[in-house]
Amino acid sequence: MKKLISVFLCLTLLFSLSSLAFAQEEKQPPVLFVAGMNTRDLVFLDDGSPAFPPSGDRIKSSILSAIIPLLVNGILMRSWDGAAKALCKAVNGIFEPCKMRPNTTSLYNVGIEPKPDTDTTSAEVYEQGGEYFFTYDWRYSPLDTADLLNDRINEILANTGCDTIRIYSHSMGSCVLLSYLEKYGHDKVSKLLFTDSAFQGMDFVGELFNGKVHINPDSLTNYVCDMVYGTDYAWVGGLMKFLKAVYLTDGVCKLANDVLIKNMIDTVCAEMRDFVFMLPGIWSFCPAKDYAACRKFVFGDTPAEEYRILVEKNDYYINNVQSKIKDILDSAIADGIGVAILTAYDRPAIPIVSSSVNQSDGMVDAKHASVGATVAPFGKTLGDDYKQAVNCGHNHLSADRVVDASTCLYPESTWFIRGIIHHSFGGDVDAFCYWVLDYDGQPTIHSDPKYPQFFDYDRDTGRLSVLGTAS
Ligand SMILES: [Zn+2]
Repeated sequence: MKKLISVFLCLTLLFSLSSLAFAQEEKQPPVLFVAGMNTRDLVFLDDGSPAFPPSGDRIKSSILSAIIPLLVNGILMRSWDGAAKALCKAVNGIFEPCKMRPNTTSLYNVGIEPKPDTDTTSAEVYEQGGEYFFTYDWRYSPLDTADLLNDRINEILANTGCDTIRIYSHSMGSCVLLSYLEKYGHDKVSKLLFTDSAFQGMDFVGELFNGKVHINPDSLTNYVCDMVYGTDYAWVGGLMKFLKAVYLTDGVCKLANDVLIKNMIDTVCAEMRDFVFMLPGIWSFCPAKDYAACRKFVFGDTPAEEYRILVEKNDYYINNVQSKIKDILDSAIADGIGVAILTAYDRPAIPIVSSSVNQSDGMVDAKHASVGATVAPFGKTLGDDYKQAVNCGHNHLSADRVVDASTCLYPESTWFIRGIIHHSFGGDVDAFCYWVLDYDGQPTIHSDPKYPQFFDYDRDTGRLSVLGTAS
């Protein structure tokens, strides 16, 4: 009997040990989230005082200092040039702490403050089933930030003893992640998920960096209505719709475009040059199709020597990272790494450029975040007669006939959420992200009926439901 018990005990021990070993073998690699722009505020590193977003006091004093020059120049002197300079002085004052030198270093001792809890690479996070975070100073070129991301990845892998890591990124984080893959390869990665990504740029930056500002009355109305939705100011939306219906908004926008903007834009661009155009992080948002024109607009045919480092970094990012997304991701997929893309649409874009008619998540154009979907303008559909552009044997046209995903770089692994705003994680979106991250191999829109290509977001409940495809 004793013998039998000891054999039984041995067997039990053996079984539990082997199941433990099996469980360890099955444990998925750690997860790292590469955050979007300004997830962590910029501060003066000497005393921790705010640099970006600017403090209320800084905004107030900058605006106050501009009011008298603006009135004197604009009304008394009737000088567009003087008024534009006064306006820019206020804006430059507000953003002074963010300024970069043309050699792509910070003008002031400004940056992100380390936060040991958030920045930890300790194995504890992994052991407890948590995820790691990567935040950064958004002003720098994603190429430079990619070096810091590489350090973070190496530290996490060393601490956890894992060979690979699963990474998901958001917005500007996708520019950084793509730069990392271009510079360091994908050997240490086992899954890639890009959400609301700016990695193909944003049309509004392509326009602004080419000195084009245009206020579209439809976009302005949509944008304001969207902003006040569900708030105490919802009546403002009704008012905006009324003003639009009686063509008042059209008139005001026309006046702003044809008089104000037309007369001030050249001076504004010249005055803002040392701030806006010196930020390589923002240059990474310029779509490749607009880049040559923007580069010429800002730096001329031959950039001066003082801008050499900045222009070289911008050139490299646009030509070797943004424009090479297919090569970079194809090569990862060929090595068995699952790649997924999540895009949001049906939120009005910032109404200060012509491209604000684009479908977006309020920030990034859906056609860019999805790497090539065919998307109807905001508030419109592709039409009842529209036929899916590429026939691959599946239906890739959304039920609302707004998105044709068949023209995406990866139509089988690109997902869309209608109605969600930029940077809306949590709840159902998190569940989807973790489904992708946990999926064994390459997830597709056919992998799980719970996660087809198109979702609808309910703004009141925050829940996702299946939107389906057009019949
Ligand atoms: Zn297909």
